[in-house]
Amino acid sequence: MNVDTVQADVQRPGNTFALGSLVADAARALENVSATPRLDAELLLAHAAGVGRSSIVAFPEREASGEVEARFRALLTRRLDGEPLAYIRGRKDFHAISLHVTRDVLIPRPETECLVDEALAMIGARTDCSVLDLGTGSGAIALAIKQARPDALVTAVDASAGAVAAACANTASLGLDIRCLESDWFAGLGAERFDLVVCNPPYVRSADPVLDRALRHEPREALDGGRDGLDAIRTVLNEAPAHLASGGALLIEHGHDQQADVVALASERGYEIVTARRDLSGLPRFVMLQVRKPEL
Ligand code: GLN
Repeated sequence: MNVDTVQADVQRPGNTFALGSLVADAARALENVSATPRLDAELLLAHAAGVGRSSIVAFPEREASGEVEARFRALLTRRLDGEPLAYIRGRKDFHAISLHVTRDVLIPRPETECLVDEALAMIGARTDCSVLDLGTGSGAIALAIKQARPDALVTAVDASAGAVAAACANTASLGLDIRCLESDWFAGLGAERFDLVVCNPPYVRSADPVLDRALRHEPREALDGGRDGLDAIRTVLNEAPAHLASGGALLIEHGHDQQADVVALASERGYEIVTARRDLSGLPRFVMLQVRKPEL
């Protein structure tokens, strides 16, 4: 069903539209686009009306004004074109925070929330832990860690100026005190060392058709990890030992079919594998590494 059909279906005498029927018809239209069509429709209508989703759900019989309805249809057209809901609304919830997201940043994923939990478990009883988020994008990992552990000294870097701007804006609006810098991996950090380096690098293979399909709205440089998807991971593995404090750890997210390769690359470079974990969908997704101590 396209948007014109939606319009025809829900049109009533007097040209007004009940919220419930706008949602129901939009949800039907979104069935092939979204895994959560009704939720998307409710959130888009709430966004168009400038109200919370609960008002849409609680008062389906209310009529939308012509202005709200026009705004809603414009948003729905974007969603039907496959644009992610987070870009249309400009927001994404992540861990215990809500982030502003722009087209300059990857939309934070639920699997990356597990990376934050893993980082928090590693910080554990250590106080004033220095943490670096490499390729921070919206600032999601860095800010979620700082929110949970205000004592941590958190730095967030990204090679993209647009991403650094987005991370800085989120830092200010959340009132969290982290340092955001433009830096191509470790290049802008001098000889600084950190207790914990966390990284969600680009790891999708360049030829993976998903880059031109489901992921086409997101910045390619945040997703494309080169021919085997491991280019950024190799760089980070090569450079991290010079930036890890004694006893420090490197926590990396990777593709669901890359754990064995990442473990091999890390072992070749003298790392010890502390943990290799799955995400909430049960897919292998992270490794925690430490630099192996030289044999005495
Ligand atoms: N998990 C993301 C996806 O496949 C990829 C994120 C990344 O490359 N870091 O949608």
